[in-house]
Amino acid sequence: MKLSVRDRPLPGESFAGYLIRLADYNGRRTVNELLGPIGLDEKASLFASHQQAMEHACQLIAPMINYPVESLVNHFQEQFINSWVFNETRKIRSITLSQPRICIQCCVQAEEPFIHNHWALLPVTHCTQHSSVLIDSCPGCNTQLEWTFDIFRTCNACGLDWHDHTTEISNIPFWQQEFETLLQINKNELLDWLDSFCEKVIKSARPLDQYHDAIYSIPAQTTNILALVKQAYDPDQKQMEWPPEGFVKARRLKLQDTINQHIRQDGFALALGIKPVDVTSLVQSNLITPIYNSPVVRDMLFNIRDADRLIKNVKVIDSCPEGYIEVSAESGLLGLYDAKYGQLLSKAVVDGSVYRFVYSNNLNCIYVEKKRLVSHLESLLEESCAGLIPIQRALRILRISRDELTALIKNGTLRLGRHSSTANRIIGSSLWAFINTSHSSLTRRQNRLKSFGIR
Ligand SMILES: [Zn+2]
Ligand SMILES: [Zn+2]
Repeated sequence: MKLSVRDRPLPGESFAGYLIRLADYNGRRTVNELLGPIGLDEKASLFASHQQAMEHACQLIAPMINYPVESLVNHFQEQFINSWVFNETRKIRSITLSQPRICIQCCVQAEEPFIHNHWALLPVTHCTQHSSVLIDSCPGCNTQLEWTFDIFRTCNACGLDWHDHTTEISNIPFWQQEFETLLQINKNELLDWLDSFCEKVIKSARPLDQYHDAIYSIPAQTTNILALVKQAYDPDQKQMEWPPEGFVKARRLKLQDTINQHIRQDGFALALGIKPVDVTSLVQSNLITPIYNSPVVRDMLFNIRDADRLIKNVKVIDSCPEGYIEVSAESGLLGLYDAKYGQLLSKAVVDGSVYRFVYSNNLNCIYVEKKRLVSHLESLLEESCAGLIPIQRALRILRISRDELTALIKNGTLRLGRHSSTANRIIGSSLWAFINTSHSSLTRRQNRLKSFGIR
């Protein structure tokens, strides 16, 4: 099948724009109508952002316009292959938009209007020729522009003729100037610039969220892209929030009521002033329930308000009370019992025998009643002596040398697992019995406790 109008792509024309222009010239309304009959049933937005889709389409179109496939692919390839267009480690991996944007001046004034490929780049918000704002939705009815044949002339929702609209003219904004300058002179610096630009934009889309997922590209349904970029550089203004679809992970959409309060384990730990591993202890003791649980820590979701609630749950005081001791994750006392700070924190909070300093807004340091502290630590040690204990851990708990440990195993005081797979672990009950009966072990612990001012 040959097309009756076989226009070649114009210099700087975008691939999706070219398809829609070709459709228009040949009396088809959409790219689907143009390519459907030759077996391509894809949306134009796909051709705007995916190289393989472009190459595949070129193979089918080239014969229709009597043009070599290779020349056609070469013409558009540059829009897809540049390292700065797509970068795996960026917050927004591809800066190519799949939704159309146009300059109304270009559409109205050009003899042969077409869609420039750089209009699809996120940092480009204005037409360089006319200094006018690129629009992504109709200025009359706010409907998002679509890849349809009439995009060069009218809004396909309300029929507004672009001739009847006065476009907003302003200076090319600084972000676009910076982007275009770096594009010309320094590709390495451009990559850094884009990292920071994308990070700002992603935060701008969801200014009230606690953290921001990395995304492939700006969601196809996103409109008001100029406002999105503007807000990225002016976060103090009254903030607009874009819909979460496409900006946040699918699992978070199911919890939309609390979306602004979602936080990952690292952020949750930071809010509490503790280490991420200590959050795990709080979860295990049911003091905190993740709103989305997963064996992959990175995927777990918490509600930031649960951190506030937990902090408020701990009474405040202006100095360490009589009979109490200050404990933090660094306290040597914890090491003495091979306990984690989060474990002790959980026990102390449940027990209620705990304070925090009045001016501290987190739990990185607490005051625990000395008597309760020892019993908490002992019960933690007992809990950790359940099951089989790796040799290294036993050495840490007992604070003895490997030779001494070997001797204890030889004389039957400490017993090893019976199966070959457990023969390098100590049966916890024998360890616990030794801790509580061995004179040297008890004395060592007593002396350490004394050095901390306890007992
Ligand atoms: Zn223009
Ligand atoms: Zn309209």
